[in-house]
Amino acid sequence: MSATNSNAMNGTSASGDISASDFFGYFSAGPSKLPEEVMHKAQKEFLSYQSSRVSVMELSHRSPEYMAINDDAIACVRRIFNVPNNYKVMFMAGGGTGQFAAVPLNLSAEGKSADYCVSGTWSEKAFKEAKKFGNSNCVFSVNKFTTIPGESTWSRDKDASYLYYCDNETIHGVEFPFIPSNEGDFANVPVVADMSSNLGTRIFDVNRFGVIYATVQKNLGPAGCTIVIAREDLLGRPRSFCPSVLDYSQTSKANSLMNTPVTYSVYMTKLVMEWIEDNGGLSQMENDSKAKSQLLYDVIDSSDGFYSSVVDKMFRSRVNVVFRLKDGDEQLEAAFISAAKKNNLLSLKGHRSVGGIRASIYNAISLKMVEKLAQFMRDFQKSN
Ligand code: PMP
Repeated sequence: MSATNSNAMNGTSASGDISASDFFGYFSAGPSKLPEEVMHKAQKEFLSYQSSRVSVMELSHRSPEYMAINDDAIACVRRIFNVPNNYKVMFMAGGGTGQFAAVPLNLSAEGKSADYCVSGTWSEKAFKEAKKFGNSNCVFSVNKFTTIPGESTWSRDKDASYLYYCDNETIHGVEFPFIPSNEGDFANVPVVADMSSNLGTRIFDVNRFGVIYATVQKNLGPAGCTIVIAREDLLGRPRSFCPSVLDYSQTSKANSLMNTPVTYSVYMTKLVMEWIEDNGGLSQMENDSKAKSQLLYDVIDSSDGFYSSVVDKMFRSRVNVVFRLKDGDEQLEAAFISAAKKNNLLSLKGHRSVGGIRASIYNAISLKMVEKLAQFMRDFQKSN
């Protein structure tokens, strides 16, 4: 395919082939951009996986080929996140929303309550879901989802079944810069984290957690698969009414093959994780996400209020940069989105519940593309 054949608006050729990934920026919050190399590899193997003449989509989940994909993907999670031996790694279906129920169904004990940090839409949904299965308590209250109160002010229960929080709130752009305590009075309260939008973008110590989960469609793959990392001693005591498909013990005993898994999504997630390893691993992803978000926050902070972020500086997300124009001028924001589109910078509209602009800059978004967005923001300010 020749470059002259390509469509300047969307970076594709007349036949739909991708010509140059950096040709346009796609800042979707999820499902999100996947690394181009991964897409090419998947394309190459699409019809015949490793000369089998069968697509991964067509492989039985009991076939040796698929079982190897499953094992390799689990091994990738273990390597990338340095998962200790006393933790199980699982792939589940049902997305983040499935985990809102799976967490209380697997970890809440009869008669005990669970503690929740509600710092945005996703933890609020998880908190509401947990209430269906037992008592749960919100450890702090905030008027708006723009900050996280200091840990010393939280009202935690030292006998809680677990403490739940969302490490990065994708809609509000609020990210935890610390891991809640699992020491002193709270030594017996496992910490549970929803890392759906930032797992794979920074280094952290798995030992601090009871359970970590992430739906993969932001930094780690296409929609479908949810990664769960759970400490072994927390398994084996699900509530009697926990559906098998959400049961961590059954899932881990069956090596994530209890029922038909989301095979293609697990395969793609494996490819994305291999790409992370080939591109400097977690430390490089962490450096990149710091650099990329800094670029945008610098434009915002030096714009004399033309752009503004309502999130307290300490809690600004490195992966979902949420901002307003002239304190929420919706007409100007609509003009910004439409001018951005003309410059091949797509999917920048904030979530419908909060409005404004959101640039999701996950792992597959290059620094170069974020530079392009930063330059566009400066130019747009000059002409408005
Ligand atoms: N948690 C977070 C942080 C999310 O961003 C999302 C979805 N965007 C969810 C949970 C829910 O995931 P799903 O749509 O896969 O159920």
